[in-house]
Amino acid sequence: MPYATDPDALGALLPGEPRYRIDQLREWLYLHPVLDAEQMTNLPLSLRRDLADRLWPFRVEAERTTDDGATIKWLFRAGDGAAIEAVLMGYPHRTTLCISSQAGCAMACTFCATGQFGFDRHLTAGEIVAQVAYAAAHLRANPMPRSPARVGNVVFMGMGEPLANYPNVREAIRRIVEVMGLSARSITVSTVGVTPGIDRLATEPWPVTLALSLHAADDHLRETLVPLNHRYPLDHILAAAARFRAEKGRRVTLEWTLMSEVNDTPDQARALGAIARELRAHVNVIPMNPTPLAPQKRPPKARIDQFVDEVRRTGATVTLRDTRGIEIDAACGQLRVSSGG
Ligand code: SAH
Repeated sequence: MPYATDPDALGALLPGEPRYRIDQLREWLYLHPVLDAEQMTNLPLSLRRDLADRLWPFRVEAERTTDDGATIKWLFRAGDGAAIEAVLMGYPHRTTLCISSQAGCAMACTFCATGQFGFDRHLTAGEIVAQVAYAAAHLRANPMPRSPARVGNVVFMGMGEPLANYPNVREAIRRIVEVMGLSARSITVSTVGVTPGIDRLATEPWPVTLALSLHAADDHLRETLVPLNHRYPLDHILAAAARFRAEKGRRVTLEWTLMSEVNDTPDQARALGAIARELRAHVNVIPMNPTPLAPQKRPPKARIDQFVDEVRRTGATVTLRDTRGIEIDAACGQLRVSSGG
């Protein structure tokens, strides 16, 4: 299980092999990932054969493509049956990979499919990094028509609450930055508001981007959407985000899943704008994607535009996020919808 091994301890997998051989393997795993160990051409055939069946810590159970090949969702299955989903999105000048940090999620946000299916287990650092390596290998073997051939951005916005699986997420970030060479700035950790995790992340050496899934501008409303708000109320979360910003000098992103007649009112827009201005944060509005069990709905287009305009009028910067992959249940909040759990 090469991705289960610390990249600095790969020698344990290759007893008796010289140092350069270990370096070669590390490069294949992290710098030029390949789908198949057969393609590790400078390694001896016997070693390639030995790695063949155990290169990836999961098998690919399903691969679905949409947007003319520019969006791909993978359902990986670990040996113990845990489901791991990742979504690759190609844009003209960048590619973004959305990865999972847990199989399932314990946060139970009422509008999110992942939460509705419950928690299975934490992913290991190796399983998290292997999603990035697999997407990179796939992209090199199958370039997207109009996008760069390498993974540029990694967002922890797939299944799971990354800050509830801190040690593994931390180690995954370390490997992605220090071994794979991605810039920390191109990594986004999205949290529903695990305040102690935000404070820990601020002490790490990597200036990653913090995204806060806000969805409501007051505790009363937020508690109906995000149960964790009972434990970490808004003023705690926003104070932690402000500390993160001060410590890291990185602008925080506020995520707002927009739901019809829930959080799409002018009052919420103005309150969100005020929070964003105070925090000097950027707002991302994500129109709600359908999930089978959630009662909430996406507002009509005109209402979405009004909400965005209202936030903008407060002076905050706001983007209406394009949602990729609704047709293949790969969009925000849809992971686990059709994977069979
Ligand atoms: N647990 C973390 C990361 C995973 S969710 C977090 O909550 O931030 C990533 C994003 O998808 C969050 O901003 C979440 O609010 C959003 N999301 C969840 N369900 C959604 C849905 N049904 N439609 C649109 N966005 C959704």
